[in-house]
This record gives sequence, structure tokens and C-alpha cells, in this order.
Amino acid sequence: MPRPIEALIHLDALAHNLRRVRAAAPDAKVWAVVKADAYGHGIERAYPALQAADGFALLDLAEAERVRALGWRGPILLLEGCFESRDLELCSRLNLWHVVHREEQIDWLATHKTTWPHRVFLKLNSGMNRLGFPPAAFRAAWMRLSGLTQVDEISLMTHFSDADGERGIEHQLAVFRQATEGLPGERSLANSAATLRHGSRADVRGDWVRPGIAVYGSSPDHPEHGAADWSLQPAMTLRARLIAVQQLQPGDTVGYGSTFRAEAPMRIGVVACGYADGYPRHAGTGTPVLVDGTRTRLVGRVSMDMLTVDLTPTPQAGVGSEVTLWGRGPQGAVLPIDDVARAAGTVGYELMCALARRVPTHVVGEAG
Ligand SMILES: *Cc1c(COP(=O)(O)O)cnc(C)c1O
Repeated sequence: MPRPIEALIHLDALAHNLRRVRAAAPDAKVWAVVKADAYGHGIERAYPALQAADGFALLDLAEAERVRALGWRGPILLLEGCFESRDLELCSRLNLWHVVHREEQIDWLATHKTTWPHRVFLKLNSGMNRLGFPPAAFRAAWMRLSGLTQVDEISLMTHFSDADGERGIEHQLAVFRQATEGLPGERSLANSAATLRHGSRADVRGDWVRPGIAVYGSSPDHPEHGAADWSLQPAMTLRARLIAVQQLQPGDTVGYGSTFRAEAPMRIGVVACGYADGYPRHAGTGTPVLVDGTRTRLVGRVSMDMLTVDLTPTPQAGVGSEVTLWGRGPQGAVLPIDDVARAAGTVGYELMCALARRVPTHVVGEAG
């Protein structure tokens, strides 16, 4: 018998979440962001549900090749553009649209030999200070691009730093509005948080929205809103089984460092899941977990291959009982990945991206 741990990728949830973000941004086209191997879900696994998107956005050229190999003939956008001039050859060959965020990328285009001119997304740094031309240089970059025979359509793009938080998007929207005023071309601004929170506004959704995390069923603005508040469904389940049970007496401790000490007699379940499976090592005592669909808590330190849980709320549980680390449990129970992430001091993004290769992963559900 293989070690009792597996991940499930729920095609029905991916399809549902895609419809959900589409409804939040009426009339906008939707890039399904599939960078980082579809946020750990696997591009090939997620594809049947995500081919209802209008395009795929990612950043690794090898991932773009994989999307084309699946038969996708629609738009693919390289979110960081080309990393060196040679990359333009792949863009030409695979018809990839690419972001232009700095001057040198225009230099490469200017000397690139291509039969078909490229579609580019010119990126404005509207305040996040990661990628993009500063507002004062944006129009000159646009003019330069528009003079190249290697370029046909120029779209306009920016990225929000605080769409999920208190500072919000207005300051960056104002910068974008001013820098792009009067320029032709499609617009793309919104990640998941901006799409769900402000997608009803035409100036925010623009022509293309770029949701990632929402498509995978995690809330972009947790803990203000949970996934259920946004009607999102978990697209990934991580589940395992109990492989041992220990009876503790008062004063007994559990695991490395003896960080948990029993105050009363209690049963502890040992789960076949550890940090080498992608479970966060920093999740401490109290992190939520489901045993047979009942919510209980992790106790003690997560080790490489195992973690331990409090079986007090589930006296019937024993070796072989099903443990849901995140996602869908039995009998309709759900453990939001965001709740686990929060307890570990991180975000759902990091947990799903960190699912380890050694975890057997199965695709379930209908894509339609
Ligand atoms: C990752 C990424 C997104 C998607 O962000 P989410 O918060 O996952 O929706 C959108 N745009 C760009 C440029 C990105 O890098």
C-alpha cells in the first residue's frame, strides 16, 4: 500500500471559480493566471477546466510551451516579458504575447526578425515599484514601440499592490489614468482581489482581468473575506490518514522539542503528512485540521513526514481515519486553505504552490 496521503484537484471547483470571476467582471476577458504550475495544481491537470478562459498568463517560457502542447491556440501572455533577446524567437514561434516593462526589452524587439509582428502589453509602474516604466517614461516607451514594424498591437497594463487591503487601488488608478490618457489599446489592471472587490467598475476591470488565486478557490483578501464569502470553492484538497494513535497522560509531550504537553489524558493521532509533503512547518499547535470531517487541531511540531493531531473531538477515530489538511473533507465538510495558512503565518498562495512532488495527485470532478 502506498503511503496514505494524496492531493485532489477539483475540476468542478476550478470551472466554478472561473465562472465566478467572470461574473465579477462583466464583459471583460479573463486571463487564467497559471504561473508556478497553475499555483501548484499542475497546468496539465487544471487545463480541462481552465480552457474556458480567454487566455493564459504565466511567466516561464517552458510553461508557455506546455500550454501550447495541450493544444491551446488562444492568447498566452508572458507576465514578465522576455528575459533575454533570444526569448523573442519563442514568442514568434509560439505566438506569445509579452509584457514590456523596461527599455532593453524594446531594444531587443527593434532588432528581432519576425514574420508576424508581436502583441505586447506595455507595463506601467503605477506605484508598486516592481515592474514597469515610470509614469514620466510611459508615453515615450509607447511611442518607441508604436514605431516598430515588429510590434502590432500595444495594450496597457499595471498591477496593484494593495487591492486586498486598506490602502486600496485609487492612488494607482489615478496614476494609470493619467499616464494612459488618450492612448489607444486594451487595458489590463486587475488581479483577483481587484476583480472581486471592484470588478463592477469599468475602469478597474478594463478589457482583461488577471485572476490567479481566486481561480484556485482561495480568498485574495483573507481574513477580511473567506473563500466562501466570495462563493469560491477549494480546487485543491490535501488529505492523508492516521497511521498511529497515542494515549497521553498528563505531563506527556508530543514530537520534536516537546512543544506540546498534555494537561489531561488525551488521544493523539499521527498523520502521514509532514513538511516534506508541503505542509507548512511553521503551523503550530491550534492549526485547524479535519479528522473524519470533524474540525480539530494540530498539536506539537510538524516533522518531515508526520504531524500530530488532537483526537479529543473525534473519539471514534483510529488508524486509517481520514484527515483533511485543507480543502474538501468527507460529508461536505470544508477546511479553507486560508485558515491553515493564517495559522502558519502565511497565505494560501504559498501552501498551494508548495505542494510537494512526492504527494500523489489525482484529478477529480467534471470540468464542464
Ligand atoms: C500573479 C499575478 C496576477 C494574479 O494575482 P492573484 O493575486 O493570484 O490574482 C496578476 N497579475 C500579475 C502581473 C501577476 O504577476
